[in-house]
Amino acid sequence: MKVYKFGGASVKSAEGVRNLVNIVRGEEELFIIVSAMGKTTNALEEVFDAMRKGDTALCESKIAEIKAYHYTSIADLFGSAEYRIKAVDDLFEALRKAVTTNRFERSRAEEWYDHIVAYGELVSTTIISAYLAKEGIVNTWIDMRKCFLTQARHKDANVLIEQSATPLRLAVAGAESRIFVGQGFIGSAPDGTTTTLGREGSDYSAAVVANILNADSMTVWKDVEGILNADPKIFPDAVKIDHLNYVDTIELAYSGAQIIHPKTIKPLQNKNIPLYVKPFGNKAAAGSEISGSAATISTPIIILKRNQSLLRLRSRDLSFVLEEKFPIIFATLERFRIKTNLIHNTAVELALCVEESWHLEEVATALQSEGFDTEVVEKVELLTIRHYDNELFSRYASKHNDFLIRQTTTDTVRIVKPIC
Ligand code: ASP
Ligand code: MG
Repeated sequence: MKVYKFGGASVKSAEGVRNLVNIVRGEEELFIIVSAMGKTTNALEEVFDAMRKGDTALCESKIAEIKAYHYTSIADLFGSAEYRIKAVDDLFEALRKAVTTNRFERSRAEEWYDHIVAYGELVSTTIISAYLAKEGIVNTWIDMRKCFLTQARHKDANVLIEQSATPLRLAVAGAESRIFVGQGFIGSAPDGTTTTLGREGSDYSAAVVANILNADSMTVWKDVEGILNADPKIFPDAVKIDHLNYVDTIELAYSGAQIIHPKTIKPLQNKNIPLYVKPFGNKAAAGSEISGSAATISTPIIILKRNQSLLRLRSRDLSFVLEEKFPIIFATLERFRIKTNLIHNTAVELALCVEESWHLEEVATALQSEGFDTEVVEKVELLTIRHYDNELFSRYASKHNDFLIRQTTTDTVRIVKPIC
C-alpha cells in the first residue's frame, strides 16, 4: 500500500482534479488523503466567524459562495452546469442547517469551529471519489471521522493511533476496491464530535494512515519542486534539498517551514516509512526524499513564521526567580491551547513568541492574577535562519533594527519583529 496526499492547492480547480487522476491512474493499492479544495478552509473559517457574530444571513451567503465554487469544478469535470452530486448537496445543506439553527456558545467555540471547517474535506473527497469513479477508477470513500479516534481537544487534536488502527484496518479490509479516498485534517473525539488536527494537518492524517496500514511509502504532491530551503515567494533564491532525515525535517517544520506539518514525521519515523515530496505537475520528478538514513543537511534554511504574538511577562515583585513560575505560565498557555515558538528570558522578564490566538487576552488576565505584569504585542513574525553565514546574516538578520528579540547562536539566528 502507498499513501498519497494532495493538498488544497493541488485540487483547487477541475484541472487539478484531472491531474490527480493522472497521478493516481495505474496505482493498484493506494490510500489517497485529500485536503479541502483551494482556500475552502479559510472560507469556512469565515462562516464560523459569521456564526460567532450571530449573522445568519452572512453564514448563508458565505456557504452559498463556497458551494458555487465547488460546483464550478463539478460542472467542468462532469461536463454540464446542470450536473448535481447529491452527496455534495446534502453536505452543504447539513452545514447550512447546523450554523443557522444553532446558537453559538463561546465556551464551545473550538468544537463549533471543527464542526464547520471539516466540511471542506468532506466535500472535496466526495467530489474526487465521484470523479475517479467516472474515470473508471473504482474506489472507496472513507469517512475518516469513523476511523480516526482523537484526543478530546478541538482545533488541534492528535490521533490516538492504537485506538484508530482497528477501525481503519476494518474499513480497508471490508472494501472491494483497493483505492481509497479519505479526508485529511479530521477525526472524532471520544464523545463523537468532529475534531480537526490543526491547520495544514492533512499531511499528518496521511502519515497516520501510512503508519497504521504499514505503507511502503507516503508521497505529498505539492505546488513546489520538493522541499526548499526557504519559501520562494519570500526568498527568491530558494533551492531544493534532495535528501533529508526525519530530525532535520522536524526542525524545519517546527521553525515554520510550510513544507510539511510538524506532526507528520513521528508516525512515519516509528515505522521507518520514507516520505516523498513531489511536484504535482510532474509525476516523474524526483522531488525530495525524507528517510531515516539521510545525512544531516548543511544548506542554510530561512523560515518566516507569520501570525505570531509576543507575550511579555514580568514578575510584579521583581523576584529574580521567574523560573519557579514557569509551570504556572506554561500550564496556562496549554489550557488555552497556545503554542510557544520561542522563549527568551532575563532575570525579571520572560518573553514568549506564541501563535496568534483568540484567547491571548484571557491568558494575560489569568497570569495577571498570578502576580505578573503582562504585555501583548500583536502582529509580529518570527524569522529563523539555520546554518547562517555572514552574508545571510547581514542580508536578512542585521537589517531588522526594529526587532523585539534577537537570539543568536553559532548556527542559528532567530528574530521576532513587527510584520513589515
Ligand atoms: N484544509 C486544511 C487547511 O487548510 C488542512 C490541510 O490543508 O492540510 O488547513
Ligand atoms: Mg493545505
